[in-house]
Amino acid sequence: MVGWAIAVHGGAGVDPNLSPQRQEEAKQLLTHCLNLGISALRSNASALDVVELVVRELETDPLFNSGRGSVLTANGTVEMEASIMDGTKRRCGAVSGVSTVKNPISLARLVMEKSPHSYLAFSGAEEFARQHGVEVTENAYFITPDNVGMLKLAKEANTILFDYRIPTTGKCAGVESPVKMNGLPLSVYAPETVGCVVVDSEGRCAAATSTGGLMNKMSGRIGDSPIIGAGTYACELCGVSCTGEGEAIIRSTLAREVAAVMEYKGYRLQEAVDYVIKHRLDEGFAGLIAVSNKGEVAFGHNCNGMFKGCATENGFFEVGIWD
Ligand code: ASP
Repeated sequence: MVGWAIAVHGGAGVDPNLSPQRQEEAKQLLTHCLNLGISALRSNASALDVVELVVRELETDPLFNSGRGSVLTANGTVEMEASIMDGTKRRCGAVSGVSTVKNPISLARLVMEKSPHSYLAFSGAEEFARQHGVEVTENAYFITPDNVGMLKLAKEANTILFDYRIPTTGKCAGVESPVKMNGLPLSVYAPETVGCVVVDSEGRCAAATSTGGLMNKMSGRIGDSPIIGAGTYACELCGVSCTGEGEAIIRSTLAREVAAVMEYKGYRLQEAVDYVIKHRLDEGFAGLIAVSNKGEVAFGHNCNGMFKGCATENGFFEVGIWD
């Protein structure tokens, strides 16, 4: 028996001008989700059930960029993606290009459990959802006025919005704090992708990640979040969920690298996370949360901040945005 541990994130990269009210709302939501996970763990739910439960809750609330509240493609539509992995058997499921499914993370789990495949996308994923009676709704349900406004600004500035590069004060990764990013006022930037990792009291690890991707992304773009080994990974040693610049995370196979460093170099969890953030992440900003089969929990990021929280069986509980 090990002590259980849970970590949750609401994306890497934080707008330093994000209103205190919005910061508070984000922390409250992360706290609520951690508490939900904690009660499930206390009732002996498996790591896999808990990561799905927590990510569903984050998808249902419009605050973060997943499910309801997903960012918009250049066409003004929502194309969501999610993945889940059960470390005990290295089973996994993923979906991309989903536009009507209320909880993409549960569809990813269904792909894992009820299809002969690991990854379904676009019309095939939608058809599979309907065959399995998954709750669907019109695309408009996912679209919030905030995101419509941000897409307008992103289009005016002809840019894809992401906030990982914003320094908090002074310098971040060698860049002076700008007043504007890509010509846009910093205050338009919002929280990002969500994820959850859990090790349960039997030492089983699981990971789940869900996102709308990047604001003003090309229709059809697939990021790291649904890609096993990049945005999400779990095995018998650990569970990892990443967030940040998808293209950089894909190139770095970031989530799998944490497990590989533990496996091949014999590093402890936090050492492996630090090593990977420092040596593996090439030209890009990202962050990740991780748990190990020994009940450890770890974070790492190379950007200004990350919406995150964690709790362990021995009573540790923390939610934060900055370092
Ligand atoms: N990694 C996500 C993507 O590139 C975005 C994020 O984490 O905020 O789609």
